[in-house]
Amino acid sequence: MVREVEAHVVATFPRTGIRALEPRVLAALASVPRHEFVPEPQRAFAYEDRALPLGAGQTISQPFVVALMTQLLDPRAGDVVLEVGTGSGYQAAVLAALVTKVYTVELDEGLAEAARARLLRLGFANVEVRAGDGTLGWPEAAPFDGVIVTAATPEIPPALLEQLREGRHFVAPLGPHGLTQSLTRVTKLAGGRVARRAFLEVEFVPLREGE
Ligand code: SAH
Repeated sequence: MVREVEAHVVATFPRTGIRALEPRVLAALASVPRHEFVPEPQRAFAYEDRALPLGAGQTISQPFVVALMTQLLDPRAGDVVLEVGTGSGYQAAVLAALVTKVYTVELDEGLAEAARARLLRLGFANVEVRAGDGTLGWPEAAPFDGVIVTAATPEIPPALLEQLREGRHFVAPLGPHGLTQSLTRVTKLAGGRVARRAFLEVEFVPLREGE
């Protein structure tokens, strides 16, 4: 799977400008047993480079996209990061292999509970899962050294930008629901300014409104 992902990165280089994945990202990808995050009927495909259904209308992202988003976040060893859209917990686990602490929020209570149990069972002790509306972030744990949203949103939810440390990145598929979005990195600069760069057209399930 890791080799397939590397080949995919090379093939999309003309579009993304990303020549290769960093060794630490590849190592993190190789260290997480993806089959543990995939529902039983999909297990045979766990190590293919494609998105798979999680149930509840949600999907576990394609490993190539997980790897790309991870690299764009530029996670460092001492970091505390926030993910919105836990899903299976796979992206959180990949990040957990790279940083000190991952906070992740999932709107669907069933998915949140399953991901929490799974991550605990697999020994990812540095991930905290919360059921709730991730567009509000996790104020008690802010500021974050990176914020990643793994569902499509037209714009950055303001609370998430607020909870991001200056100089660090927000990574998300930005764009309309039901169509393709642009995998975008937004860097928080001084004085409330941001720098934005789009890397790739992607297709994510929508970020939903909390009740
Ligand atoms: N990162 C996941 C895949 C995410 S799919 C993985 O690695 O498996 C997108 C997820 O976002 C879905 O599970 C969906 O329920 C969740 N979601 C949608 N809207 C949300 C919101 N407002 N807050 C938190 N999670 C949300």
